[in-house]
Amino acid sequence: GSASFEEQAGRFRAAVAARHTVSTTPRRPGLAETGDGFHNAPDSDFTAALVRGQLAAAMAQLPDVTVDVVTTPADVDEVVARIVAGQAAWAARTSAERAALLNTVADRMEADRFATLALMADEAGKTAREGDPEVSEGIDFARYYATADLPAESEPIGSVLIASPWNFPYAIPAGGVFAALMAGNTVVLKPAPETRRIAKWLVDQCHAAGIPQDALQYLACPDDDTGRHLITHDAFGTLILTGSYDSAKLFLGWKPRLRVLAETSGKNALVVTEAADQDAAIKDIVKSAFGHAGQKCSAASLAIVEAPVYDDPDFRRRLADAVATVRVGWGPDPATIMGPLISPPGEALERGLTRLDAGESWLVEPRQLDDSGRLWSPGVRIGVQPGSWFHRTECFGPVLGVVRAHDLADAIAIQNGTAYGLTAGLHSLDPGEIDTWLAAVEAGNLYVNRHITGAIVRRQPFGGWKRSAIGGGPKAGGPDYVAAFRRHPSVAIDF
Ligand code: GLU
Repeated sequence: GSASFEEQAGRFRAAVAARHTVSTTPRRPGLAETGDGFHNAPDSDFTAALVRGQLAAAMAQLPDVTVDVVTTPADVDEVVARIVAGQAAWAARTSAERAALLNTVADRMEADRFATLALMADEAGKTAREGDPEVSEGIDFARYYATADLPAESEPIGSVLIASPWNFPYAIPAGGVFAALMAGNTVVLKPAPETRRIAKWLVDQCHAAGIPQDALQYLACPDDDTGRHLITHDAFGTLILTGSYDSAKLFLGWKPRLRVLAETSGKNALVVTEAADQDAAIKDIVKSAFGHAGQKCSAASLAIVEAPVYDDPDFRRRLADAVATVRVGWGPDPATIMGPLISPPGEALERGLTRLDAGESWLVEPRQLDDSGRLWSPGVRIGVQPGSWFHRTECFGPVLGVVRAHDLADAIAIQNGTAYGLTAGLHSLDPGEIDTWLAAVEAGNLYVNRHITGAIVRRQPFGGWKRSAIGGGPKAGGPDYVAAFRRHPSVAIDF
């Protein structure tokens, strides 16, 4: 129409604000800077050298973390009994006392930042570029949940079990632990077997800051009958889980009455239309697809590109060039973009990295870089067909598929055409397109003209739809999260 850009933009902003929480809210003072802001950002050679020096020192002196693995159901019972016994005393603390403890933990996490980065690099292959915002996210969870307003008529739900993942081995358990503790519940943290030391380090930090042993216990156990005994334990009515959709289903099969708040899988896409700033889109695709080697539930594994852009050889060349700049390596060096995988590729990722389906070709062929099987260069497959295996399947690794869409409506249909709905992105400078997309896309976290990973506590509460979540839970890092671990009776008294 004839409306000016300003008029269109004004209408668009009003329409968007009526339906969505827009993430440009000013920061609350006191929260750490996370996500986009790289805390120890190597944005000059000088700071890079400083960060490198501190990392090297921390790597040479990794914290001494002792992990005891519990291998029998009787030993599980013993650990669980402690926090059950501690529940009444922890619940009896005021929320101001619990908040003060969380803030003390946050101070400690800040002071230990480099030790934590070193440990995450050592155990999980996290680069400094990924580990640093993760530490900040953990700190943000502590400080933000400490501000939770707990209604006087509500009470804690009781002991909570947390099963945490290896891909965010520090921030994700931190978020669950802090929310459940703040709500007045005692907690058992069971980490993924791949990252037991980092989780133990977090629990040690909490205890050192004054969280009582009887309020928080660490329990490493194998994912066998002992693990099953823990998951189905009578002491827990609620499980906070971050993992695959299949494990969430498995646990619910074991104990149907378990309340599972689960953040599960994703198959996330970034749509690029003809109205996009292509340079910005390419930068954000690369960041979203290959950060932490694609091992994020939030990662972009599809770029859905409108035909005129997709068909432009220049766009493909620029995308390939950008991917070629991704520096891969072992160790946390601040210049490294992509570290190793947590383990050699399993079935789905192996297929994603090595086998093409009909219509597909490699724009950038991924390569295995050493004998460990864990270090891969990033890959880009183009010609991915709607409905194909790669369109539907989460691979959880450094491989991006590019899909051609006729127009925006087609792109949205492809984007919504998976079982998942965690993150979704759009690159378009057309306000009308942005509005259309926001109204139609089915995912819990929507990002326009930016990368689709790295949700920031409070600013972008994180949680998905469809098979990306179970329990229809509140979003992590959002205003309702702590309250989800409280309950209150409806009381009616007749005199
Ligand atoms: N919250 C993370 C992000 O926004 C993703 C968490 C996950 O992968 O489980 O990137």
